[in-house]
Amino acid sequence: MSTKFIFSVLSVIMLIFISATSSNAYTFNNRYWPKTAGQTYTIYLNYGTSNTAYRASFDTAVSDWNSAQSKLKYVITSSSAPNFVGTQNVDDPTLYGTCFALSGNYFNATINIGNPTIVSNSTVRRSTAVHELGHGLGLSHEYPPVLAVMNSSRDRTQTYTPQLDDKNGINAKYPF
Ligand SMILES: [Zn+2]
Repeated sequence: MSTKFIFSVLSVIMLIFISATSSNAYTFNNRYWPKTAGQTYTIYLNYGTSNTAYRASFDTAVSDWNSAQSKLKYVITSSSAPNFVGTQNVDDPTLYGTCFALSGNYFNATINIGNPTIVSNSTVRRSTAVHELGHGLGLSHEYPPVLAVMNSSRDRTQTYTPQLDDKNGINAKYPF
């Protein structure tokens, strides 16, 4: 066998592997925002906590999502808003956050301050806030080996911003 032939076979195998691990892995929940074609839809949020560290996690998560895509935009306002970002306190080190559905499309995204890692590690807090706001945008869970902030088994100290798969998901859910 020639070296050239072996390289061709290797290239094909690698291409198959790459497409198998990167194609359309994202999944959707049933939340669809009433976006108009060609316009960014704004989702308004209120803080559900007065703690500045936890507010900061959501501030960062909002800018992470806003810079990752242009279909939907988060704005945290001091006026009343139908969605909330805050905390819950559940004595469970395996629970990082939740995104409760409220009436209509609305939601309450929380990080669990009963989890010691959430309290001690700002990167894990950021990863959790970004993940929960991903549910707010309309994404559902991913599983290994997909590199995604929506992967509920991700390493939260390494994956804490929207990844390509997450961005592809938003753009596929709102292609207009
Ligand atoms: Zn989740």
